[in-house]
Amino acid sequence: MIADQLLTNVSQLVTAPGRGARRGAAMRDLEITRDAAVAITNGRVMWCGARTDWNGTAKVEIDAAGCAVVPGLVDPHTHVVWGGDRLADFEARTSGVTYEQVLASGGGIRHTVACTNATAAVELLALAQARVVRMMRAGATTIEVKSGYGFTWDNERRQLDAVRALSAHVPAQLVATMLFHLPPRDPRDRLEYMQHAVREFIPDLARDGAATAVDVFIERDAFSVDEADMLLRAARHVGLACKAHVDQFSAIGGLELAVQHGALSVDHLEASGPAQIAALATVTTVGVVLPGVTLHLGLRAAPARALVDAGAAVAVGTDCNPGSSPLFSMSLAMALAVRLNGLTPAEAFSASTANAAAALGLTHVGRLAPTMCADFLILHGADWRDLPYTLGEDAVDRVFIAGDELLR
Ligand SMILES: [Zn+2]
Repeated sequence: MIADQLLTNVSQLVTAPGRGARRGAAMRDLEITRDAAVAITNGRVMWCGARTDWNGTAKVEIDAAGCAVVPGLVDPHTHVVWGGDRLADFEARTSGVTYEQVLASGGGIRHTVACTNATAAVELLALAQARVVRMMRAGATTIEVKSGYGFTWDNERRQLDAVRALSAHVPAQLVATMLFHLPPRDPRDRLEYMQHAVREFIPDLARDGAATAVDVFIERDAFSVDEADMLLRAARHVGLACKAHVDQFSAIGGLELAVQHGALSVDHLEASGPAQIAALATVTTVGVVLPGVTLHLGLRAAPARALVDAGAAVAVGTDCNPGSSPLFSMSLAMALAVRLNGLTPAEAFSASTANAAAALGLTHVGRLAPTMCADFLILHGADWRDLPYTLGEDAVDRVFIAGDELLR
């Protein structure tokens, strides 16, 4: 065998075994190869195993210097295309102002919508690119990006166009999702909005490939279960995948609806109880937990421990957004899932790699095995557990995407 590159001098090569999402106790099984090597050709893994078992040649050697190597992290939930900031909200909240008061004084999500729509396309792209670069440096090599701050049809498209443009500027694989985030407040506008979404907007998205999934925020103050049913039905009808923000503040049936639609993932789950945990235990839908929100807003944590114990597949994301989770590091999201959501280090590892890929419907990232993308991280230390242990991005030394090193 002749490889383009040989990654060698690897203390531990760590990956979730098998294919697809890992569920329940299997999330704790990791395949750890000591003194390993990885052969790469055309940006894909062609071989990996114990270094002494490699008997081919390589054009280039990458020396891991005796450190651990893990798959590039997959961030299955972000909102990185936004304009303006929420720094005033942050300061007000920390001095005791409630979220309702923030909204009443013109802050909150509607402030982000106004700022995003007032930001020129080129500036919106530059802002998002700077954020994605920070996320890649912290170890994310595949990143989902949602729209949802546009509100009007043209502005939602502008956000999705920004994701498409951004793909040409960053090496990370970006996955665009249309998020139905805020419905119109007037009931008559709302009906018209729903009709346009179902008849025109969603079919158009599928036709020109602007998004691969439709996500709906199902909550008392957002879309109802019936409205979400219409949107997800329309998405499936044109071949788009389904996702949903559910049970963030209240369990109103959003999770159950999304599962019925065969959603790739249900995200948030802070208010999920025994019935919702049971509903996720045996289905392919991945439960995505977002510990950055728990930390930033001081809300309860999603019951990831109970979900894994029930047999569900759990993933972790940053939910990077200006209002509820200004978290740019998937490494830190993984570390927080151990502290705040009760996952073990190995479970958090599977949740941030193989299961996060499954939450995006991707089969070629999230693991290090033959045919997978050569997306990997060389850590600073020899033990992979530094990654969930370290609070910050310092555990990640070098980042490679499709075999190419991300330059600092
Ligand atoms: Zn979100």
